[in-house]
Amino acid sequence: MTPAAPALAPLPRTARPADRPRNVLIIGAGPGGLAAALLLARAGLHVRVIERLPRVGGRCSAIEADGFRFDLGPTFFLYPQVLERIFRLVGCDLHRQIPMVRLDPQYRVVFGPSGGHLNCTPDLARMEAEVARLNPIDARNVRRFIAENQVKLESFRPVLESPFLSWRDLLCWDLVKLLPLLRPWASVDAELGRYFSDPRVRLAFTFQAKYLGMSPFNCPSLFSILSYLEYDFGVWHPYGGCAAVSEGMADVARELGVRFHLGEQVTQLHFDGNRAVGVRTDAGEYRADAVVVNADFAHAMTRLVPDRLRRRWTDRRIARKRFSCSTFMLYLGLDGRSDDLPHHTIYTAEDYERNLRDIEGGRLSADPSFYVQNACVTDPDLAPKGRSTLYVLAPVPHKTAAIDWTKETPGFRACVLRQLAKIGLRDVERRIRLEKVVTPSDWEGGYAVFKGATFNLAHTLTQMLHLRPRNRFEDLDRVYLVGGGTHPGSGLPVIYESARITARLLLQDFGLDASWLGEPGAKDEPVPASTVTV
Ligand SMILES: Cc1cc2nc3c(=O)[nH]c(=O)nc-3n(C[C@H](O)[C@H](O)[C@H](O)COP(=O)(O)OP(=O)(O)OC[C@H]3O[C@@H](n4cnc5c(N)ncnc54)[C@H](O)[C@@H]3O)c2cc1C
Repeated sequence: MTPAAPALAPLPRTARPADRPRNVLIIGAGPGGLAAALLLARAGLHVRVIERLPRVGGRCSAIEADGFRFDLGPTFFLYPQVLERIFRLVGCDLHRQIPMVRLDPQYRVVFGPSGGHLNCTPDLARMEAEVARLNPIDARNVRRFIAENQVKLESFRPVLESPFLSWRDLLCWDLVKLLPLLRPWASVDAELGRYFSDPRVRLAFTFQAKYLGMSPFNCPSLFSILSYLEYDFGVWHPYGGCAAVSEGMADVARELGVRFHLGEQVTQLHFDGNRAVGVRTDAGEYRADAVVVNADFAHAMTRLVPDRLRRRWTDRRIARKRFSCSTFMLYLGLDGRSDDLPHHTIYTAEDYERNLRDIEGGRLSADPSFYVQNACVTDPDLAPKGRSTLYVLAPVPHKTAAIDWTKETPGFRACVLRQLAKIGLRDVERRIRLEKVVTPSDWEGGYAVFKGATFNLAHTLTQMLHLRPRNRFEDLDRVYLVGGGTHPGSGLPVIYESARITARLLLQDFGLDASWLGEPGAKDEPVPASTVTV
């Protein structure tokens, strides 16, 4: 599906493997683990990735059966700039390796059964006309929202690219000066109230809080940059789905010498005192000079590392943390196509706030919000000829004792299938030729996600920056974290960025050159010209 990786240019002189052999072991081949593998291998380290599932990508992998191909998790590929930079750093071109297309319209938002809809487009003149259909006064503020969030992102970017190893780092970035801009005390919804009075328009610019598994009514206002990112940098569809990005990354990693052990599960970390020295798996034992944990943070810590070795992130403390919502998933292979439906459609429940309260309160809604990906309108190769794929996601509570999914699944599945009529899909059940269901119990049991909380620890102010588990993990020596469970957070662009942060720390700890990774917040990285093959 992806073209062969281009030949790799010579390594930076300071990082030849022969100079300083070091073994790094990465637990998990999710997006964070793959990005870390690329950078660490490029630095000349011996990298081994151990992945419990039979394929790479983690939550960003593919489900394939009977000629249908679905993304398991991510379907919105946003802000490709972060991964473009990582590819450049290892001597590759992202777009040559993984072809992708920018979507326009980027998605449709449907507001309950009778609230109308918005076809959201990055063409601002057309977007203003769309918003004007719902509220002419709000239409005047679309460009102001974009302009002000552009400033916000540029101010905050250095923070997203830096490690937060203690509260002192807050002072270093002079976050106090940024407070009037970031307004951390406000929610995303309150922030958008400064631009848009119509709740439907606000929703079209705030539902993105769900990318973090949060409600726009309590997600910190900083995250208004998420919708801004879509308008300025695009919503992209990689051909073959987001999973093709993970597969392309693994191809390049193999070219760089990374060894993958798929279908092998790490069962415990080995320590000398507090220092990680290797791992045991269900197939053997491996020594390592450092261990990078990409596996879901809370799931892995509570199972792979003895509680007594953890000072800050004990089992008790982890259990008290706030976790994101989960998702109920239907992956449907259908007879025929649905060409009137855009690539992405978001349906927001008639009583959206009640639906959010249900999710946070551990209840299933009778009128759940949902999201549908109809990817074959862009990428027909995802299904056999004359057929199509439908990916349906409904945000639901993470696992609680109150919901027994073995009992609730048939009823909730029927409810979600009925909901599809509200976006014009009336005869889906009759057309189903392939079906896979994933519930919060499956996320927990099948995909090793703590409480099935698909978007990790919630992104509340008390669980961000230095208060999130740190990239150089604070409780253990020579243990590092990458992925949605560490800083900067969940969502592909920041997950890839976590790998650059972590790789920089690890190389510095090994006394190796990390300057080629670039400085946090710098406009362009000092990629040596000889390594770029664009
Ligand atoms: C349904 C859903 C939709 C999403 N949609 C989007 C989206 O549209 N856009 C976006 O940017 N983000 C989205 N996300 C969020 C996020 O981008 C993905 O969840 C992403 O895959 C998380 O990456 P990660 O690096 O944290 O690791 P993961 O993808 O969680 O990978 C961790 C890996 O570690 C492995 N592992 C765990 N334990 C062990 C062990 N003991 N031994 C060996 N291996 C182990 C796992 O099998 C897994 O492969 C979505 C997430 C979900 C679940």
